[in-house]
Amino acid sequence: MYRKLTAAAFVAALICPAAQAETTYIRAGSLFDPATGRVSRDAVIVVEDEMIAAVGDYSTVIPDGANVIDLSESFVLPGVMDMHTHIVGNLDSNFFAGYFQSPHRATIGGVVNAEKTLLAGFTTIRNVGASGYMDVAVRDAINAGEIPGPRMAVSGPGLGITGGHCDRNSLNASFEERGDGVADGPWAVREQIRKNVKYGADLTKFCATGGVFSKGTQVGMTQYTLEEMQAIVDESHTHGRRVAAHAHGNEGIKRAIIAGVDSIEHASFLDEEAIRMGIERGTFFALDIYNTEYTLERGAERGVPEENIEKERQVGTRQRESFTMAVRMGAKVVFATDSGVYPHGDNAKQFSRAVRFGMTPVQAIQSATILPAELLGWDDRVGRIAPGLYADIIAVHGNPLDDIEELEDVDFVMKGGVVYKDQ
Ligand SMILES: [Zn+2]
Repeated sequence: MYRKLTAAAFVAALICPAAQAETTYIRAGSLFDPATGRVSRDAVIVVEDEMIAAVGDYSTVIPDGANVIDLSESFVLPGVMDMHTHIVGNLDSNFFAGYFQSPHRATIGGVVNAEKTLLAGFTTIRNVGASGYMDVAVRDAINAGEIPGPRMAVSGPGLGITGGHCDRNSLNASFEERGDGVADGPWAVREQIRKNVKYGADLTKFCATGGVFSKGTQVGMTQYTLEEMQAIVDESHTHGRRVAAHAHGNEGIKRAIIAGVDSIEHASFLDEEAIRMGIERGTFFALDIYNTEYTLERGAERGVPEENIEKERQVGTRQRESFTMAVRMGAKVVFATDSGVYPHGDNAKQFSRAVRFGMTPVQAIQSATILPAELLGWDDRVGRIAPGLYADIIAVHGNPLDDIEELEDVDFVMKGGVVYKDQ
């Protein structure tokens, strides 16, 4: 895949108008290509403005006085990606903090969390579910260069049935509490998706089953009829938006796959039939196998009610078995952590669990680079270090193929040609 920067290409670069671009040369001691799973030694990455212009080796001609970044002692790889995050809100450690924070305050939390996520090496994320289009605001501020943060694909409010996991159910009826994305019936869900598109959503998130952290829902129970799910998928795809379905229970997972969703979030109670159905239809599975440890260890002190901790106990072990089975059967398993359930910036802790529960280190990195790029439809811009893609590049000191926990301590972060961290 890598194109050597030839002398001719170099001269062409001097002659053409692009020569006015800001050019940076990165020397990479080890360079990982997730497309092939191979490491090349002594590479040079040529970055022009925000894009990768070329990838060559140490024979690449570097002009005198050029801007050079020396990562010759490092292991260099594309910025990693997390396909299930909740970066707005959660400024303090209390489970019910959301009830006492204004949307404006919660959005500022998103600003803080976006930077933490980027500095942990995550240069692209999906944010799946945010009321008041707070995620749209954070994404737009990042894209405008006003605040540091990853590239974001955002859903706006997640769709859900009345009283379902994507609703808000904690308060009694006199409060008339209701989630922003609640919509019942095929036409109501279409209307909500049109509204989300109107206000800037990149994708659709909906709740196909109960969930761990909602009051009164059962993780195994399906929410939405097949007709409603098909309407969600059809309307979203009509607008060029992909669909992420929150689904723990096996029936809800299968119904969502049949409806044609692009990814199953959590995917806790998979069986072989569900995995085969997903493989046949190209459905991605996004299993968040780290956060269960955090919830069981720290949830109670954060005020998580016993009802929800008990649901996590039901889900955690079984979900990891599902992960192992899905990886073994060759399903598309993407890196997705549910950040916000645990502290932002700790996303990379899931890599070691991915390896423990069945992935090779190469697969684990692929699950956070080329696979998410494919899921987002962004494989022409992120996920690899190759000419024509954004210069989203990270580096660690050790070799993560020997010790995957190296990715928990990222030393260098570049996004779009801009260095955000260099230790
Ligand atoms: Zn989530």
